[in-house]
Amino acid sequence: MRRTQRTQVVGLLDTLEFDNRFTRELPADPESENFRRQVMGACYSRVLPTPVARPELVVHSREMAEELGIPESDVSSQAFAEVFGGNRIADGMDPFAMCYGGHQFGNWAAQLGDGRAINLGEIVNAEGHRWVLQLKGAGPTPYSRTADGLAVLRSSVREFLCSEAMHHLGVPTTRALSLVLTGEQVVRDMFYDGNPKEEPGSVVCRVSPSFIRFGNFQIFTSREDFDVLRQLVDYTIETDFPHLGAPSKDTYLAWYDEICRRTADMIAHWMRVGFVHGVMNTDNMSILGLTIDYGPYGWLENFDPDWTPNTTDAGGKRYRFGHQSQIAHWNLVQLGQAIYPLIEEVEPLQEVVNAYPRHFEAAWQTMMAGKLGLGSYVRKTDDELVSDLHTILQSAETDMTIFYRNLARVELSEITCDGPIPELLREAYYVEDQITPDLASRVNLWLRRYADRVSSEGNEARVELMHRTNPKYVLRNYLAQLAIDKAEEGDHTMISELLEVLRRPYDDQAAMESYAERRPDWARHRPGCSMLSCSS
Ligand code: AMP
Ligand code: MG
Repeated sequence: MRRTQRTQVVGLLDTLEFDNRFTRELPADPESENFRRQVMGACYSRVLPTPVARPELVVHSREMAEELGIPESDVSSQAFAEVFGGNRIADGMDPFAMCYGGHQFGNWAAQLGDGRAINLGEIVNAEGHRWVLQLKGAGPTPYSRTADGLAVLRSSVREFLCSEAMHHLGVPTTRALSLVLTGEQVVRDMFYDGNPKEEPGSVVCRVSPSFIRFGNFQIFTSREDFDVLRQLVDYTIETDFPHLGAPSKDTYLAWYDEICRRTADMIAHWMRVGFVHGVMNTDNMSILGLTIDYGPYGWLENFDPDWTPNTTDAGGKRYRFGHQSQIAHWNLVQLGQAIYPLIEEVEPLQEVVNAYPRHFEAAWQTMMAGKLGLGSYVRKTDDELVSDLHTILQSAETDMTIFYRNLARVELSEITCDGPIPELLREAYYVEDQITPDLASRVNLWLRRYADRVSSEGNEARVELMHRTNPKYVLRNYLAQLAIDKAEEGDHTMISELLEVLRRPYDDQAAMESYAERRPDWARHRPGCSMLSCSS
């Protein structure tokens, strides 16, 4: 087995302060060899990244580098590519993979774990913020099961760009620091249809205050290892929820309640921007309420609550856009069951999780009010206004992002019921033939009602609120795929260009109009643009 040298990386990362609390405070797997196994009684296994042939930095997030206190001159050094490609370990790092389980598509899957993620260490930056650095695709770990621990450029580009895009959209998310090509090829059968091919290997460095998932707790409860369960819960509360106070039964309940609220808030953001996660398994649910594990996710083009981007999910559509809140609720119930042994009373847990739909409803109403530019959501009038709009948006293929963005600027005083659909909204329609006189009159009728509803709101404030709620730029599925196509030919410019545009998703960027356009017709059924698989 090849070994990574623990060489000090001179001049790089030496200003960073590592404080590896997870490995210091939680039980470790005593086995130090790297082979696949069931790991009992431990939260993690120490494991080193597998060295790669020719690490080359493709792109990095300057905001993330700055947050971590890594100067740009360091980012452009070869040593940076070596560390974040997995070839070298900087002083102070203590690499490990976490043990977790999870429910996949509603079924308990037992031990999963960091099969291709290796945490390098935890940084506490100048402001005192804790950030865990994690390589995704840096080789096998004890949790890799039958897979190789690697990642391909296609999936790394999607993870890198989407994490940063979501951050700039104001959606709670894990972050990405860098994307490094390994100089090696990785074989993938993209659609599991017997057509494996070689793809460029790559490694993303993800960053988050914590990568702990619901599944990290579930695994110990499933094994009746309540001692480690309690250690991990107490650790999480003390590290990431210190405001809740010292661990106790009441603290556990308050903690669970906060997770429910954060999760509701995250899902409302997904609904706002048209994001479909695609694999909301309990091992992909962050304990901090962050969007985590960017796999076969997708962005709504035409507003279709039944859409799922994940080919594996095409049958049951469990993870479809409009079902995400219910799934989050189901996942939270599983988390409640995982922490039950620490509380030993069903009612208080039930009470907490039963409140989830109310948290989501409240977050959703605030979000919808923002999308329509309403100072506040008034159920009596707005429930019907919104549900009628949703019906209209589904009666012809209508681009959700363009419709809401442009709605702010429609001249509401000029709407007549027998007139055409306002030009600004026409841009949102995918199929010319679907813009019938009947559709036009329904849209215009709705606009008249909307105009009435907002007549008492200041117009400037309405437009301003809508413009900071409804992004102009999202990571459209086909744009990510075009960037990948080019990158696979060695041209990385579109990745950087997209990153740049997506840094300011709410601003009109004159030179970047084309990135805000509807999906072109050629992309309607193209793999990667309209359907994704878990193979990554
Ligand atoms: P996901 O569907 O990406 O959430 O992954 C589910 C489980 O499979 C997790 O335990 C992952 O670490 C593991 N996994 C996914 N892809 C790979 C891979 N290429 N090599 C090893 N483990 C993987
Ligand atoms: Mg996962």
